[in-house]
Amino acid sequence: MNQKYTIALLPGDGIGPEVIKEAVKVLGSLEKSLGLELALNEVPVGGAAYEIEGHPLPAGTLNAAQEADAVLLGAVGGPKWEKIDFSLRPERALLGLRSNLNLYANLRPAKVFPALVDASSLKRELIDNLDIMVIRELTGGIYFGEPRGVESLDDGTRRGFNTLVYTEEEIKRIARVAFDVARKRGKRVVSVDKANVLEVTGLWRDVVTEVHEEYSDIVLEHMYVDNCAMQLVRAPKQFDVIVTTNMFGDILSDEASMLTGSIGMLPSASVGGKTAMYEPIHGSAPDIAGKGLANPLATILSVGMMFKYSFGREEVNAKIELAVESVLDRGIRTRDIMSEEMTEVTTQQMGDEVVAELEI
Ligand code: NAD
Repeated sequence: MNQKYTIALLPGDGIGPEVIKEAVKVLGSLEKSLGLELALNEVPVGGAAYEIEGHPLPAGTLNAAQEADAVLLGAVGGPKWEKIDFSLRPERALLGLRSNLNLYANLRPAKVFPALVDASSLKRELIDNLDIMVIRELTGGIYFGEPRGVESLDDGTRRGFNTLVYTEEEIKRIARVAFDVARKRGKRVVSVDKANVLEVTGLWRDVVTEVHEEYSDIVLEHMYVDNCAMQLVRAPKQFDVIVTTNMFGDILSDEASMLTGSIGMLPSASVGGKTAMYEPIHGSAPDIAGKGLANPLATILSVGMMFKYSFGREEVNAKIELAVESVLDRGIRTRDIMSEEMTEVTTQQMGDEVVAELEI
């Protein structure tokens, strides 16, 4: 009997629908070649959902996500919705999905494809064969801690405050994700904190160390966040898995991904609950939407992560990565990764090229 998976497709705004369309082609090809049965349930999210239902994450969309085996999201947001109430902005849908699906761990690989090694702003020898995984805690920490706000003081000035808070359980579960992921990779974890200044990250360090006792095959190192930011540009290949808090991870994962030099190439996974969510790290790129210029590879590679982490089919992820690598090796490029003597293709042609490679 064919293996059956239900995938909720949330194309969203700007280039979101364009890149999702190419990912759907890849899914169609895999469905045939692997003998799978894929039920694709497309629902609106972000600005597109706001236009139809007056909310960026309508109940129907959330339901579809909760009932699916995995969620594939394009991107949300755009200038059209920048002036509406904060609670109804397209980007709020992301927070709603993360909290409702209990996606407390964000996995962001920063991997350099050999053909694109010169797209990085760092020297070739620093980043060739680079393959880092940054794991960011996603549903706790200072972005969610209470109390928060801005208050007026008696002297007429204002005071702003946020709270950095982590419970032991929140730290334990993200540490386990990091050690489990490391076990399938280079077996090294660097836990990043600011334990010399912030008590809560002192707790982070202690709890990660305690959880590590269950993982004697993994090498654990602790690093302060300022040093990590520096090491990422000085000698990035020293890292295998980095695990850190929500805010530190927000910054370090962007830094790590930019080492590869191409935002249109980077996938991500948000895991933790029953259903995980996969999406490219880029936004809706309103400046290039509708022009056939969007690079669909980040979304296609996100499909690979879905097979690896949600469906336990690591070999399918490897197959997709290999197909992408072959296309790049043949000099096929969307404009964002274009360089001399290469062949420029549209979003749609890039999708076709990957499918053709998969079907060889
Ligand atoms: P962005 O990632 O959309 O674009 C940054 C730059 O990278 C732009 O020049 C864009 O053309 C280019 N780019 C991005 N993805 C590309 C791709 N696949 N192929 C080729 N070029 C690509 O970031 P931004 O401009 O800061 O944000 C635009 C909108 O997206 C905003 O509304 C923002 O809130 C939203 N956003 C959404 C998400 C998300 O849905 N997860 C993430 C980030 C930003």
